[in-house]
Amino acid sequence: MSETSPKLRAELDGIPTYKPGKPAAADGPVAFKLSSNENPYPPLPGVMETAIAAARNFNRYPDMACSGLMNELSERFGVPATHLATGTGSVGVAQSLIQSTSGPGDEVMYAWRSFEAYPIITQISGATSVQVPLTAGEVHDLDAMAAAITERTRLIFVCNPNNPTGTVVRRAELERFLDRVPSDVLVVLDEAYREFIRDAEVPDGLEIYRDRPNVAVLRTFSKAYGLAGLRVGFAVAHEPVAAALRKTAVPFGVSQLAQDAAVASLRAEDELLGRVGSLVCERTRVYEGLVAQGWTVPETQANFVWLRLGEQTLDFAAACESAGVVVRPFAGEGVRVTIGEGEANDVFLHTAEAFR
Ligand code: PMP
Repeated sequence: MSETSPKLRAELDGIPTYKPGKPAAADGPVAFKLSSNENPYPPLPGVMETAIAAARNFNRYPDMACSGLMNELSERFGVPATHLATGTGSVGVAQSLIQSTSGPGDEVMYAWRSFEAYPIITQISGATSVQVPLTAGEVHDLDAMAAAITERTRLIFVCNPNNPTGTVVRRAELERFLDRVPSDVLVVLDEAYREFIRDAEVPDGLEIYRDRPNVAVLRTFSKAYGLAGLRVGFAVAHEPVAAALRKTAVPFGVSQLAQDAAVASLRAEDELLGRVGSLVCERTRVYEGLVAQGWTVPETQANFVWLRLGEQTLDFAAACESAGVVVRPFAGEGVRVTIGEGEANDVFLHTAEAFR
């Protein structure tokens, strides 16, 4: 950055850096990457073929309106296309949501710890983060969040299930909370891990948003649909919010590869959701294995588990890495471990047992 822009330099210095999950070391023992909540299955052949066909035209810009994908989403989820907005991953949509609602002097609220992009994209918009601690049981403290609303609150994220704890907010408490949120505050239900939920008491955000114009739902193709590398996510919200998102989206922010692969994935949903079912079985096995070893593990409805390790966090992560699994440490707090393929989960369980 040039010396001519000290203000920009100072602002950039204050923005925390997003730390993606570490890649697995190529030269280590069998290296499994369990650090970014990705889908361990390789792309479906049909989806891959569709993406390759789209790649033949990458001298052309993509369809800026994502019309094919919007139509498919509209049909699949039973929402009008006017209520949809797509973006460069759901984190791209989240960033647009903050930028179109909040700026300097405004507050963006979310539980903490939660998805680490929230503080970063809030700071980029110039708004102030209000972080409300999770309860001792690692769940959203919705009473404390309702109490923390001020006249400056513009947007509230509810990450359901929560990253990195995997814990959920259930229907009755969510409805009670939403009843307490003023109608000019937008509540974003971040449902990046929606497809992994098996608890019937966790509401589908798409049912909640219908009667609530100040609720937006955020979804992604990165997890259950296995398209993390293609960067496509979407929001469902009433028209003024969805229209603002479409207007402020980065032009051509979703590649044609991503759009076509997302459509192909929706059409291959049965197979993809079957894989999710297998991962949910693995999740139960890992959870029960850890509990049998004596660990305290919050009940998870996502494709990862959370171990609160405090000062032992980095040692535990290092032990996993030497055994060939890369996990995601949050220094001084705990470790988030993605549910991977059976073999990866076995290596992780053995390491966890040896560490105790
Ligand atoms: N929300 C949550 C809660 C997440 O954990 C993630 C990914 N780690 C995202 C949103 C963003 O996912 P993507 O941008 O790949 O859609």
